[in-house]
Order: sequence, then C-alpha cells, then structure tokens
Amino acid sequence: MEAEVGNLSRRVGTGKESACSFVLLHLLNKVEEAVRVSRERSREAGFRICASPDFSRLAAGSLIMGDGTSIPIYQSQCPDGYPKTVGTFHTHPTALSVPSPQDLTVEPLLGCIASPAEGKMTCFSKLSPEARRRVRKLEALQSEYRETERMMDYLCPGKGGCLGLASHLHRIWDEFAREYLAFVRDYCCSTTLGG
Ligand SMILES: [Zn+2]
Repeated sequence: MEAEVGNLSRRVGTGKESACSFVLLHLLNKVEEAVRVSRERSREAGFRICASPDFSRLAAGSLIMGDGTSIPIYQSQCPDGYPKTVGTFHTHPTALSVPSPQDLTVEPLLGCIASPAEGKMTCFSKLSPEARRRVRKLEALQSEYRETERMMDYLCPGKGGCLGLASHLHRIWDEFAREYLAFVRDYCCSTTLGG
C-alpha cells in the first residue's frame, strides 16, 4: 500500500490542484460522457479510475449508473492493462460537486465528483499522509457519533432525557462539521467543465 501511494504521488503530485489536472488530462472524455448521461437521466453516473501497473497512465473503468443519490461504483470494471484502482468518479445529478462525508471516507486515494447542474468537478486527494490522517479522524468522529446515538437510544429513549449525552452528541457533530469543511478547504480542487 505505502509503495503504491509513493508511486502514485510521484505521478500525480500531492498539491491541492494536482488531482483535478491529472484526472482531466487523462479522463476528460469519460468525465464529459458521464456528466451528459447523468444530466439526461437525473441519476448518478460514475466509473473507477484505473491505473497501469507503474501508475503512469490512467483509464476509466466501465460506466455505471446509480439512482438519484447513490451508485454501486465498484461494479465498474477496470480495462485490461489497468489493474490498479486509484480512485473513483461519480456525479451528483441534483447536488453540488462537493464530496459528501461518505464519499471522503469510503473512496480510495483519489475521488472526483461532478455536478451537471453546476458544470463543475471537485476532486480530493488522500495522497499526503496528513490527508489520510485527517480522513481517519473523520471516520473516528463518525463512529463515535453513531455509538453515542445508540447509547442514547438505549439509555434514554424519548425527549428530554440524558442531557449530558445529548450535548456530547452535539459536540461530536460540531467537531465533525469543522473537520469536514477544513478537509474540503485543504485537500479539494475544483474545475469548471465545458459544455
Ligand atoms: Zn457522492
């Protein structure tokens, strides 16, 4: 894993803008095709971002359609000669081109999201160790939130009980929101799409 991250970082670069330019350089046609079908059908469209064994070339996996708000992206198949999955691309047909918290935590090293309505693509990169550390923190906050919620359901169902737990839950949520927005600010790039 670390060797792969190193190889890919050398090709892509770890700067904030580099993921956008790397993906557009190799995959512009496929991005535009996905945006077009997503707009026509008001459903998410996407594909795996696949790399050659030495990470020097990228290719898009097969195009997959989802519903209005989700997509089974890993059904996309990488073409022959491009066995490494380095990222995924999908559209948000009725939302902004910002990765959802879910997108950040489940997707691999690179993730790109395009909004047909906005005419924009936003990519994030988890290639730097600091970016991966920040995503792990988001994941930890998410699971702490879920745990606390479960505990509240069990210990104090109904309104008004367990104020201490409720305010703890708010604090986790606030911290999660701050971390999420900071990640988007520090590790995402945006680019305008033509057409
Ligand atoms: Zn998404």
